[in-house]
Amino acid sequence: MEKSNYYRNIPKVDIIIEDETIKNLSEKYNRDYVLQSVRKVTDDLRIFIKNSNSDDEIKNKIKNVISDIVSDVNKYAVPNMKKVINATGTILHTNLGRAVISDSTAEKVKKLVTGFSNLEYDLEEGKRGSRYSHFEEIITKITGAESAMAVNNNAAAVLLILSTFAKNKEVIVSRGELVEIGGSFRVPDVMAQSGGKLIEVGTTNKTHLFDYENNINEETAALLKVHTSNYRILGFTESVQLNELVELGKKYNIPVIEDIGSGVLVDLSKYGLTYEPTVQESVKAGVDIVCFSGDKLLGGPQAGIIVGKKSMIDKIKKNPLTRALRIDKFTAIALECVFHEYINENNAIKNVPVLKMINKSIEEISMESEKLYDRLNSIIGHLCELNIEDCESQIGGGSLPTEVLKSKCITIKSNTITTAALEKSLRLAAKPIVGRIVNEKLLLDLRTVFIDDIDDIVDTFREVFECL
Ligand SMILES: *Cc1c(COP(=O)(O)O)cnc(C)c1O
Repeated sequence: MEKSNYYRNIPKVDIIIEDETIKNLSEKYNRDYVLQSVRKVTDDLRIFIKNSNSDDEIKNKIKNVISDIVSDVNKYAVPNMKKVINATGTILHTNLGRAVISDSTAEKVKKLVTGFSNLEYDLEEGKRGSRYSHFEEIITKITGAESAMAVNNNAAAVLLILSTFAKNKEVIVSRGELVEIGGSFRVPDVMAQSGGKLIEVGTTNKTHLFDYENNINEETAALLKVHTSNYRILGFTESVQLNELVELGKKYNIPVIEDIGSGVLVDLSKYGLTYEPTVQESVKAGVDIVCFSGDKLLGGPQAGIIVGKKSMIDKIKKNPLTRALRIDKFTAIALECVFHEYINENNAIKNVPVLKMINKSIEEISMESEKLYDRLNSIIGHLCELNIEDCESQIGGGSLPTEVLKSKCITIKSNTITTAALEKSLRLAAKPIVGRIVNEKLLLDLRTVFIDDIDDIVDTFREVFECL
């Protein structure tokens, strides 16, 4: 058929809106909103007719106008953000929301945000209070610092600290620590934004104390140490120990600032990982200001936590940027809850999901793998090659980059579709599952899967394979 005839077959907007289904839709949603979808679908149809060479495809598309409109309207009727099952084995998966918080923390958040709270109200005095007051004491108790506050994320914390102390002045940093974190956080760029001048000292692999000392002058505002969270320089290397840097700072009366990145509060070497410097250790070494992420190894909400000398934290709180970078009530409550877990380290290991996943035993992972294997085998065993195999999980989120944790996974190779197609169907499912492809097989690492998610995984596989 001539293309012009197809264009004529596209129903007119005023006809479409008289359609019973569309009328019902207009009663349920805003009429303008439905009209937008009507226009979008008919416009798309015109483009489709122009580009398609298949009569059947075009006829089919014209026939489906109403149902396409319904789908388009419904697409925006439910939130696009949804729960995803993380079967990648990466515990702090930045793309999947980084640190998972516990049910009990989420419950407390829910309780406080669905009503009013004393967020900025001092109940004792009956007047305005500070949103930082709720968690300041617990953070200082746990970290040993004099004072504490929190902003939106650690990148914001670094920006705020530098803008408070280093504006129009110089900050000395080792060339081995000019870190870039994913999502375009680069130490030199943050420094430039803060109005401070970066003085790079040493070389990529070696920086000595004299490199810092030789560059100190009356313009020096701070000595900055950045934890190289997401990479390691191995071999012929040397960096200045924290206590030496603190000594140097004291000698010249210059504050030492440390961006510790991950913000771990427990000695991870006790749980079979490489030792990662703790916040407490930096505070104890005498660092004036330490900042770290809330949603990395700490296992809390997205935040940048700043701890240190009271006089300096007070100055930061007065910086007008603090208002722009302030945390909201969701974060304030969650942060307080997470720090409470650390009053008792055993509690933290048991209740903070990030630590729980790090500490999840290979026996527990094996047991869950077998459970999932049996269930999957009973529904898709005849369609796939299914196995339980050893694998390695990662911490992720730019923390402990060289660390791997022994784990178990289910590997799947379908007899009917490619592994890439299977991976895609699983992530497009109503309850998406994200795994990894290794050696042409799909791999589901059970370390990051919750036992309660197994039913959903099975449902999704059933749905995906019945559609294939
Ligand atoms: C992750 C990280 C940051 C950025 O922290 P966000 O909370 O993601 O903003 C900054 N510095 C270091 C050393 C980091 O590891």
